[in-house]
Amino acid sequence: MADRYQRLANSGPGGFLVRRLGLPRPEPLRRHEAGDPVVAGPVVLGGAEGGRLRQPLRELLKAMDATVLDPDAADGGRPAALVFDATGISGSDGLTDLHAFFHQRIRSLTPCGRLVVLGTPPEQAGSTAAAVAQRALEGFVRSAGKELRRGATAHLLHVAPGAEGAVESTLRFTLSARSAYVSGQVLRVDGTGAVPATEDWDRPLSGGVALVTGASRGIGEVVAATLARDGAHVVCLDVPAQGAELRAVATRCGGSALELDVTAPEAPQTLAEHLRTEHGGVDVVVHNAGITRDRTLGRMDADHWKAVIAVNLTSVERMTEVLLAGDDPVLRDGGRLVCTSSISGIAGNVGQTNYATGKAGLIGLVEALAPRVSGRGITVNAVAPGFIETRMTAAVPLFIREAGRRMNSLNQGGQPVDVAEAVAFFAAPGSAGVSGQVLRVCGQALLGA
Ligand code: NAP
Repeated sequence: MADRYQRLANSGPGGFLVRRLGLPRPEPLRRHEAGDPVVAGPVVLGGAEGGRLRQPLRELLKAMDATVLDPDAADGGRPAALVFDATGISGSDGLTDLHAFFHQRIRSLTPCGRLVVLGTPPEQAGSTAAAVAQRALEGFVRSAGKELRRGATAHLLHVAPGAEGAVESTLRFTLSARSAYVSGQVLRVDGTGAVPATEDWDRPLSGGVALVTGASRGIGEVVAATLARDGAHVVCLDVPAQGAELRAVATRCGGSALELDVTAPEAPQTLAEHLRTEHGGVDVVVHNAGITRDRTLGRMDADHWKAVIAVNLTSVERMTEVLLAGDDPVLRDGGRLVCTSSISGIAGNVGQTNYATGKAGLIGLVEALAPRVSGRGITVNAVAPGFIETRMTAAVPLFIREAGRRMNSLNQGGQPVDVAEAVAFFAAPGSAGVSGQVLRVCGQALLGA
C-alpha cells in the first residue's frame, strides 16, 4: 500500500517543507536482501566490568564477518551498531556505564543502525540489587528506541546464565535489516535445550516442511515466500474461495496449496492427514489466518463476535492440539509453532473487543503451551504486528489509518516482510532458546508501549 506522506517527506521540496514544519520524516528502512552482510558497518562493542557476554559476543560478531571496534578505538568510522554487555551491572550505581558508553556514540549511529543491550533475566540476576539494575535496562532501551532517528532501532536481549551458546540467532536477527520494523522490545534467550548447529544461515530451514495458514495474500503470502527463501517446502493454506490466488502463491514459492477453511469441524484432522501423508509431518506451523469484524461492543452482533473468535483463536487451538497429539505427533521434534497475535491483543483497541480477545487468547496459548512442549525441543512464540501495510489496514478509515502509520518510533507502517522476517527468526532451528515469547513488530507503536 502506498504511503504518500513518506514519499513526499523524502522528496526534495517535500523534505524541505516537512523539516520547516517540524513534521516527522519517516526514513526509508533498510531491509534484508540476499547476500547482505549481517551488519552493514562497524560494530562498537562495550560492556560493564565483569560481564559474561563480552568475549562470546566478540567471537560471534567476528564469525558474522563484522568489524568489531573497542570503545577506545581512535576512529573506525560511523558505527552501524552499538552493542553493550550489561550483564556485569550488579547494582543501580553501575547503570552509569550505560550513559558513559552510549552518550558519546548514539548520535553517530548510521541510518538504520542498531543499539543492542544484553542483560540477564532479572529473576536470574542473583541478588535484589542486580535484579533491579537488570530490570532497569528495559526502561533505558525503550526510551533510547524512542530517541533514535533515521530508522535506527533498539533491542534488549535477556540472556539466561548458561545460554551464551544459544544467542547467535537472536543477535543476528536484531543486528540485521531483518528486524527493520522491530524496536524497543525485549527478547529472552534460554539455554536449557540443545541448539542445533546452523550450517547455512541463509537457508536454515533446508529440507524442512512449513505450513502457513491464510497464505493467499497479505502477510501470509510473504511469510510463505520468506520461509521458502530459507529453504522450507511451504504448504500454503487458505479458504477455497481464495484458491486461484493460493495456487499462484504456492507455485511462486515452489510449495504446495491446501484449500481449507480452518474453522470447518473436520479441518484439524484433514490438515493433519494431509501433512502426514504428503510430507511425513511438519517442522514449522505458522498460524496466520485472521479476520476482523470491527464494531464497538454495544453495536456488535453475536455473529461478528463468534466469527472472529472462531478463526483467530479456536481454530488455532484445535489445529495445534491435533498436530501435537499422540505418540508420533505430526509436528516433529524440534518443531516451531508461531502464532500471529496483534498489538490489539496487548493494548486493546476501540471497536475490536472480539479481535483483541482472540489475539490476547493466542498469547495465552503461547505462554501455556511453551513449557508443555519444551521437552521435545519445540518452541512456541507469537508475533504481534502493529500497523502493517496490507488489504486489512487499507480498509481502515483514512484518519485512523494515518494515525496508525505515524504513532510509532519509526513514523511509518511496517511491510508484510517485517512480520515474515520475525516469523522466520522464530522458525529457525538456531532459535531453540527462544520460546514462550511475544515479539511486537510495530516500529515501537505507542499503543500499549
Ligand atoms: P489478510 O490480507 O486479510 O489475509 C488473511 C488471510 O487469511 C486471507 O486470505 C483470508 O481469507 C484468510 N482466512 C480468513 N479466514 C480463514 C479461514 N477460516 N480459513 C483459512 N483462511 C482464512 O490479512 P493480513 O493483514 O495479511 O493479516 C494476517 C494476520 O496478521 C492476521 O491474523 C491478522 O489478524 C494479523 N495482523 C495483521 C495486522 C495488519 O496490520 N495487517 C496487524 C496485526 C495483526 P478471506 O479472503 O476469507 O478473508
